[in-house]
Amino acid sequence: MIEHLPDRLDLYAMAEAGRELRGRIDLASLERVLPLLGSPEGVLQVTLELGKSHDGTRYLSGTITGALMLQCQRCLESMEYPLGVNFQLGLVHSQEEMSKLPERFEPLLVSQEPTLVADLVSDEVLLTLPIVPVHTDMKQCQALAAEYHTPDAGKRENPFAVLAQLKQKQ
Ligand SMILES: [Zn+2]
Repeated sequence: MIEHLPDRLDLYAMAEAGRELRGRIDLASLERVLPLLGSPEGVLQVTLELGKSHDGTRYLSGTITGALMLQCQRCLESMEYPLGVNFQLGLVHSQEEMSKLPERFEPLLVSQEPTLVADLVSDEVLLTLPIVPVHTDMKQCQALAAEYHTPDAGKRENPFAVLAQLKQKQ
């Protein structure tokens, strides 16, 4: 296990050699993810395993973990989103190779240039983020909290007062 994540990787060469890497990447370096974040601060933990499967497929599997700050689309407050991504990618050079890839792999089209690790991580993160993030814990959501915490007077409404109002409307 190599305890360092370089900026760029020659994926094919590393898959050929069989390599495992582990490291951290700053959220601030994930340019395409940044517009979705409430805060650019923080780091993600990344592990990458490159190798060759028994059927000859060069693969890249890995994990990305950490926490992101997203904006809740219900109350517009920030919310922590725990990230736990697992991916299993098959390296391909062309559309033709893509069609032959065993089903358990998602295709990753690799060009001649070394792959930017930030791009790779960004793609995988973007795939897992919710399209409309909202607080899942209702108690944390300010919009819902506002509904529940109505003044006591409203909750303890005198049933006779309601009746009286109804009568007035008639
Ligand atoms: Zn909310």
